[in-house]
Amino acid sequence: MTENLNVLQSTQFVVEKALTLLGYPQVMIELLKEPLRMMTVRIPIRMDDDSVRIFTGYRAQHNDAVGPTKGGVRFHPDVNEDEVKALSIWMSLKCGIVDLPFGGGKGGIICDPRTMSFRELERLSRGYVRAISQIVGPTKDIPAPDVMTNSQIMAWMMDEYSRIREFDAPNFITGKPVVLGGSQGRETATAKGVAIMINLALLKRKLPLLDTRVIIQGFGNAGSYLAKFMHDAGARVVGISDFYGALYDEKGLDINSLLDRRDSFGTVTKLFTNTITNKELLERPCDILVPAAIENQITSDNAERIQASIIVEAANGPTTLAATKILTERDVLIVPDVLANAGGVVVSYFEWVQNNQGYYWTEAEVHAKLQVVMEKSFENVYTIHKEKNIDMRLAAYTVGVQKMAEASKFRGWV
Ligand code: GLU
Repeated sequence: MTENLNVLQSTQFVVEKALTLLGYPQVMIELLKEPLRMMTVRIPIRMDDDSVRIFTGYRAQHNDAVGPTKGGVRFHPDVNEDEVKALSIWMSLKCGIVDLPFGGGKGGIICDPRTMSFRELERLSRGYVRAISQIVGPTKDIPAPDVMTNSQIMAWMMDEYSRIREFDAPNFITGKPVVLGGSQGRETATAKGVAIMINLALLKRKLPLLDTRVIIQGFGNAGSYLAKFMHDAGARVVGISDFYGALYDEKGLDINSLLDRRDSFGTVTKLFTNTITNKELLERPCDILVPAAIENQITSDNAERIQASIIVEAANGPTTLAATKILTERDVLIVPDVLANAGGVVVSYFEWVQNNQGYYWTEAEVHAKLQVVMEKSFENVYTIHKEKNIDMRLAAYTVGVQKMAEASKFRGWV
């Protein structure tokens, strides 16, 4: 029944279940099921050939009872209103789980950056900030990178915002280059957080890390750094993939050479002829599967054939609810997206704190602080999962939703 729900509907389904479990009234469910604000913008951009193209973009602000909203901006051809709304709810849940003073926000532009020039991307990034400038800001809503956006795009956005406001505002956006007030360790933070989750999940399952077979779907910011961390820690990375295809080798892949050869969008498999499909990769033998690409990859169609005993969701929304049920019944330990990939927003928070105080931390300090937050959050969710005998996703939603529900109540909204 849940298999036909889109990402927004399935998120709402679990949010409702979590709030009901916590004993909140129907009106709280009504409040938290949708973003408080959703802005659609149309951005005319002059392309390099002098034609003008009109791009559509969105910014959703789910709930700002706890504090300003926070979340990335994705550039992708499949961006749509419901997806951005779901992503903003997931950001609220993440911020609740890792206990940040933020609510969730998210943005997106329908475009394909792989087919655009550097200057076209700059104009689009600046145009987007001009279009949404009224509803964002360092104490209102703080953007960050997401799928196919990076520190260069954050730099243009920060510069545009600073020009509009006529003062320097590094705290307007996170994921910036370090020279512009970015944090040490932000670039690798999502992958670091996922690696911490993998270690904790292995401990729960009493499995060693050494020589453990890992498949990572997606070779972008999260997937590629994670492959490196896993490889360096002695795990055997047997599979990786990008948008065009996948590579699998039971003996382990040469991760360092793949990293050297990937382009800035994480494309590398085009250089090989012995590729398999992304779909095939997910079903290959492994101990740990990390979907690190996009939504709806593990569904009721393939959940039975997944061979991993641990799934750690580096991507947002990679597993459907029906697949979650099948996998949980098969005793696969799922570390859900809203917990597993929260390392990114944790270090974004550290970046914002450093910008606000004008005093910067070392990479070692950032990592130590990230480790503490991620461990505590995992234990919290895992304990609820065991105590209440509910799956890890529902457990995570229960933890994530509580803080904003309480904050909304104290503010007298509900
Ligand atoms: N886009 C990332 C996410 O989905 C990071 C968000 C942030 O750093 O604000 O969690």
